[in-house]
Amino acid sequence: MSRVLLIEDEPEMLMILRDNLECEGYQVLLAESGELGLATALRERPEVILLDLMLPRMSGYEVCRKLRAAGIRSLIIMVTARNQELDRVAGLELGADDYLAKPFSPKILFSRIKAVLRRGREPQKLAKTLSFGDFTLEVDRYLLRKRDKYKCVTCEATGIS
Ligand code: CA
Repeated sequence: MSRVLLIEDEPEMLMILRDNLECEGYQVLLAESGELGLATALRERPEVILLDLMLPRMSGYEVCRKLRAAGIRSLIIMVTARNQELDRVAGLELGADDYLAKPFSPKILFSRIKAVLRRGREPQKLAKTLSFGDFTLEVDRYLLRKRDKYKCVTCEATGIS
């Protein structure tokens, strides 16, 4: 069963979320601060992290950035207050997988967790272009380029474009 780490500084919210998730069959880990959350995530490697944005001292952004910098691949759902539209975008750019605006119903929470878990299990799509030094490989066109020159990697045709 998937493990979910809750990083949330409001004790009441933490308890409600924990009870709901446990009822649904998840194993739940709790952290009441960003610092604790970070330490718990590094130690326990949960599948999903529900990360509150507004935390004292270390914000959800910072926690998210540090988790990704430490190579933690857990699926991160950022929890924001209703009017934090811009923050949401910043969160996704920092490596969050999804966001959820407060207040939300348990039903919404479960469906988001299931959705990120499903997405997380899909095989990673290959990048369309790979670059190394002067070379670029256009994967779906089978073209290897060196600056403006190209060579087809299957038929060996060469050209300039
Ligand atoms: Ca909070």
